[in-house]
Amino acid sequence: MRTIHHWINGAPVSGSDLIDVTNPATDQPIATVPMADTDTVTAALAAASDAFDDWSQTTLSRRAQVLFRFRDLLVENRSELAALITQEHGKTLDDAAGEISRAADSVELACGGPALVRGGTSLQTGPDIDTKSVLHPLGVCVGITPFNFPAMMGMMMVSVALASGNTFIWKPSEQDPGVCIRIAELFKEAGLPDGVLNVVHGRQDTVERLIDDPRTEAVAFVGSSQVAQIVYSRAAAAGKRVQAFGGAKNHMIVMPDADLDVVADQLTSACFGAAGQRCMAISVAVVVGESAEPLLAKLATRAEEVRLGPGDGDDTEVGPVVNRQSQERIQAAVKEAIAGGARAVVDRSAEVVPGFESGYFVGPTVLTDVEVSSAAYQEELFGPILVVLRVDSLGDGLELIRSHRYGNGASIFTRDGAAANEFERRASAGMIGVNVAIPVPVAAYAVQGWKDSAYGDTGLNNASWSFYTRPKYVTSRWDSVAGTDFGFRPN
Ligand code: NAD
Repeated sequence: MRTIHHWINGAPVSGSDLIDVTNPATDQPIATVPMADTDTVTAALAAASDAFDDWSQTTLSRRAQVLFRFRDLLVENRSELAALITQEHGKTLDDAAGEISRAADSVELACGGPALVRGGTSLQTGPDIDTKSVLHPLGVCVGITPFNFPAMMGMMMVSVALASGNTFIWKPSEQDPGVCIRIAELFKEAGLPDGVLNVVHGRQDTVERLIDDPRTEAVAFVGSSQVAQIVYSRAAAAGKRVQAFGGAKNHMIVMPDADLDVVADQLTSACFGAAGQRCMAISVAVVVGESAEPLLAKLATRAEEVRLGPGDGDDTEVGPVVNRQSQERIQAAVKEAIAGGARAVVDRSAEVVPGFESGYFVGPTVLTDVEVSSAAYQEELFGPILVVLRVDSLGDGLELIRSHRYGNGASIFTRDGAAANEFERRASAGMIGVNVAIPVPVAAYAVQGWKDSAYGDTGLNNASWSFYTRPKYVTSRWDSVAGTDFGFRPN
């Protein structure tokens, strides 16, 4: 059993109230992690607060150099970090390595801090008056992240926050916290001064203490919409700057002219990959016209062939879901949908993996004839369950997307440019894919949901420079008022 510690002021800190971290493929505890008490939270806040003055005065290029070195360490240690993620989360090693690459993308963006953290100046905004804007860091920022991307979501917050001159307290998910501590160690190795990045483990009470403390200036959250709403309201009520990203139910529209083999391949990986536990997973396919039956046949073949197993298995394509409650919740949702009249084209939801009988496995499942009012369509199941709906027109498909409470991502598969254009303009979601099933933008753009998928108005990555800085506007006049005439008279 490993012991996972808090990370405060550049060093591991042990704690009490230990809970088990479990390998989802085996149901065996593999580590313990402490839940922070008041003293631990206070120590992290004090460390981050004390470190702020020096870090905010550190030059932009020096901050960027630390991030450059950290980015290299992230890539050099990708296999080790991926193995940690796989053990605690359950996703395949390839998928976990992909997560580290996406985390590095966020760090690479932040290495551009010297070019990106800047205001602007206008000359002669009045007689002899110039006006400029400058960007100040905020102070102590807090980030609360979900289990499904234990490294990447943190890096989407920490990178820009640190490049902007803030200090940070990261509260990762208690379900897979190991990789976060390894990341904090790598930051230290890269030269990050002690106290600039701290990691505390915990649950609701830890988050509440972090939000409420007057030293906390800003709160970033990613997780379920239910908790996002709570965090958003609490932080806003305390006068904090807050961005909170929530759940999703991402639709893919399949137009009549789409290549069904391509669509079936893309849906197989976009819905079943990472056991459906991606915030940008496609969980609803909306087939326009008559292609539903041929597409279902192709999906059935592929869903049956997906290899379920432990994330570190040689030929595993889909690992387990994160915990027993998720497994049981998803299995119950499938049963309820079928009892409510849905047709299971493939139902591997209760499949047991030989040799891993206690693992939290849920196999790929394809449901059709699902009622739009049912929980299987309305709720985020966060498992490898694909709902296939039929509509008569693109307009009907767009109306489904508009009516849904979530608006994280949406995609269309078509060869018709006009249909793609109409979809791009009208789909009510923050991240749109055209012949791309999981359209997570690169870090140079942003991660941003609409509706109940995000509360607050700034996205992650390149949209978060304004979140992590506050502008100051300076209006100045020297010549006429100060009498500083240096006698320069151009001809
Ligand atoms: P979760 O909401 O259960 O937990 C997220 C974080 O909040 C964890 O660190 C957890 O410890 C903490 N937390 C839990 N209950 C809390 C409470 N009452 N008060 C304060 N903090 C609390 O989410 P999860 O199950 O870890 O992650 C999966 C969810 O995250 C899915 O809904 C998924 O769609 C979403 N997600 C969204 C995005 C996005 O970009 N919108 C990205 C990744 C994941």
